[in-house]
Amino acid sequence: MKSCSNPLSSRPALARAITLIESTRADHQQEAQTLLSDILPQTGRSIRIGITGVPGVGKSTFIEAFGLYAIAKGHKVAVLAVDPSSAKTGGSILGDKTRMSQLAQNDNAYIRPSPAGGALGGVTRRTREAMLLCEAAGYDIILIETVGVGQSETDVADMADIFVLLLLPGSGDELQGIKKGIVEMADLIVVNKADGDLSAQAKRVRADYAAALRMLHTEGQWQPKALTCSALENKGIDEVWRTIHECISMCKQSGEFERNRSHQAIAWMWKEIRETLVTQFEQHPEVAAALPRIEQAVLKGDIVPAAAAKALLDYFW
Ligand code: GDP
Repeated sequence: MKSCSNPLSSRPALARAITLIESTRADHQQEAQTLLSDILPQTGRSIRIGITGVPGVGKSTFIEAFGLYAIAKGHKVAVLAVDPSSAKTGGSILGDKTRMSQLAQNDNAYIRPSPAGGALGGVTRRTREAMLLCEAAGYDIILIETVGVGQSETDVADMADIFVLLLLPGSGDELQGIKKGIVEMADLIVVNKADGDLSAQAKRVRADYAAALRMLHTEGQWQPKALTCSALENKGIDEVWRTIHECISMCKQSGEFERNRSHQAIAWMWKEIRETLVTQFEQHPEVAAALPRIEQAVLKGDIVPAAAAKALLDYFW
């Protein structure tokens, strides 16, 4: 019998481990933290690629094409989603199940649907930990996907080595869906659907963004780029792949890659502290009992917010 030294090497084992870190049960949480400490030496050796874009831009089509391309080059690909809708409603903008069917069936791919429900620490905490588990399981390309709504792009950019923004080959209205500031966060812009009638328009949009990107001040050596592709027709995926690797190797050479990861680790620690404290605060019985009354008082203007915060914190200390 073949011995198996990596406890996460099978997809079911990895899935079970991710379910464990998503659990809110105290004993599971403890077990999860032990597991994460154990696997830590096996983490960090992947390329973490954040991908965002409005619904309908072609994220899942792109991820499928890009993922299959990476697998053909000998890589193992994990896809994780940060779905801001799932925390509140248990629903999913990213509607994972029917997406990326070819990739999902590939032995060298692992697709994790976004966690549902607003559990301890929020969706991004679990995505970060899932990312570490995938790395320990041998996945060396991690795609972290999010929709361009809410706060989630910033969260994804904070856990990725490179941040890719997918755009539609339209101007004006279609691009209104993109939140301000996202273009500035992108290391790479890819105008998708550059095929058929949309081809010429996609090229124009690419040129516009390339010009806009040149005007942006960048801190690092990497100058963000704009490309076109057709995820549907599998065109331009190779150039996206090459550009991502160019960016990563430039950042590695300059030391920016490691610096970025170190900053992300510290930011992650503080996020954990804040989230844990807030959760404990909200769950504190006396705080929970007083909260509705004090919130009402703030709403009516009977008490100033700072005094309300102090009153609630006094229950907590
Ligand atoms: P998501 O919501 O961002 O994940 O977008 P999907 O990947 O589900 O794609 C939305 C729609 O756009 C689907 O009907 C796709 O077939 C289509 N689509 C995706 N990529 C392309 C492309 O490169 N070219 C064209 N013409 N259509 C595409």
